[in-house]
Amino acid sequence: MSFATVINCMDGRTQLPVIEYLKGRFGVEYVDSITEPGPIRILAEQTNQRLLDSICVRLDISVDKHKSRAVAIVAHHDCTGNPLPKKEQLEQLNKAMGYVAEHYPEVTVLGLWVDDHWQVSEIS
Ligand SMILES: [Zn+2]
Repeated sequence: MSFATVINCMDGRTQLPVIEYLKGRFGVEYVDSITEPGPIRILAEQTNQRLLDSICVRLDISVDKHKSRAVAIVAHHDCTGNPLPKKEQLEQLNKAMGYVAEHYPEVTVLGLWVDDHWQVSEIS
């Protein structure tokens, strides 16, 4: 069995497009999902230690037990948990990717934007 991981918004509209995208992108059978409302804000601001720890506990399981070596982080259009314009969300996403890359050097970190048609694109 092969796994990738996503730190996604809890928004139901972003789940299936992202899972399908990652299965194709990394050729994995399964995608472990860690969801919060607006997770990029939690990872970028790093002010809510309880939520940060909660994300990392779940990420540890995916990386250690499921041997996931790819972690995607999702920002998206019309996010209720983090209602900011795309430009500001992409700045947060960049910081979020830096946080995960720093704490999980063994994984590839990918940033994803889900647009108003629920299409997934990679952010470099
Ligand atoms: Zn959202």
